Amino acid sequence: MDKLERLKSAVPLLLEWYRVCKRDLPWRGTHDFYRIWVSEIMLQQTRVEAVKDYYLRFLQKFPTVEALADADEGEVLKAWEGLGYYSRARNLQKAAKLIKEHGVPTTYEGVRALPGVGDYTAGAISSIAYELPCPAVDGNVLRILTRLLADDTNIDLSGTKEQFAALLKQVYPKEAGEFCQALMELGAIVCLPGGPPQCLVCPWRELCLARLQGDAERYPVRAPKRARRVEEHTVLVLRYEGEYALVRREKKGLLAGLWQFPFAEGEPATYGRVLESKTATHIFTHVKWHMTGYLVEAKEKFPQFTWASREEIGEKYAFPSAFKAFRGWVK
Ligand code: SF4
Repeated sequence: MDKLERLKSAVPLLLEWYRVCKRDLPWRGTHDFYRIWVSEIMLQQTRVEAVKDYYLRFLQKFPTVEALADADEGEVLKAWEGLGYYSRARNLQKAAKLIKEHGVPTTYEGVRALPGVGDYTAGAISSIAYELPCPAVDGNVLRILTRLLADDTNIDLSGTKEQFAALLKQVYPKEAGEFCQALMELGAIVCLPGGPPQCLVCPWRELCLARLQGDAERYPVRAPKRARRVEEHTVLVLRYEGEYALVRREKKGLLAGLWQFPFAEGEPATYGRVLESKTATHIFTHVKWHMTGYLVEAKEKFPQFTWASREEIGEKYAFPSAFKAFRGWVK
């Protein structure tokens, strides 16, 4: 059996399995562009469990594209607080403004042209919202396909996704949306990364070459990972008469435009009386922060900072979860 035949045989098995075993998720069972688009953007680099509540809250707050387009940017970032990768929220709103002006895109190319939408997301939205045969290939899909086909292509090489997308396109069934979600679902709940895949409950167990060869975890083949850069930061939680010092991050780069406790330049004691300290670590994609935080009773209301009460921090300022360990000091 060649690759294409194997893949063809895998399609009906996968669809059948999906109809019975799929999880009940709040963005399933709809063809509404807006809902699918928001879910796909939220799901980029983020786990399903983490997204669920955000998704429902976000739609409650911004129920239509127009509502999102007309919202204040700070409000949108606030609704995104804790989800990470904040450029997604900004792009979502930028795209909402474009849609409000030019209408909802209904082709793959139109969807792909929206800010924040790459090949994968455009494929997923086009398949799910419009039943277009547009493959969405990410790391999960590559994992299950390289296992099914015992394909040892290095998936980190450029062009690999396109290669698998072209292969998938040849077998895309008319139930494009279901197929696209079924591939994702298999990668999410059966053919898992990091740990043994659940081959015994997999619809492809009789067809999967990696399993038949007894070495599923050999796939996918990857280039060795580059080490993350480590940065040391001293975090100041400065308190002055019930208010706390905040600074806004640069408009570009990591956590762009979000608010945080200031990083100290020099000794924390130069800002006032140190009450407590603790350490925390936060891991981003390419960098790791080692943070030592100090709760300090500030000796003055330093004018270089923005000062806010606990309530204001909770309601008004989008605060990245990197600083979660120190939020407990804000009382
Ligand atoms: S049989 Fe196992 S390795 Fe193959 S696709 Fe299914 S879960 Fe993955």
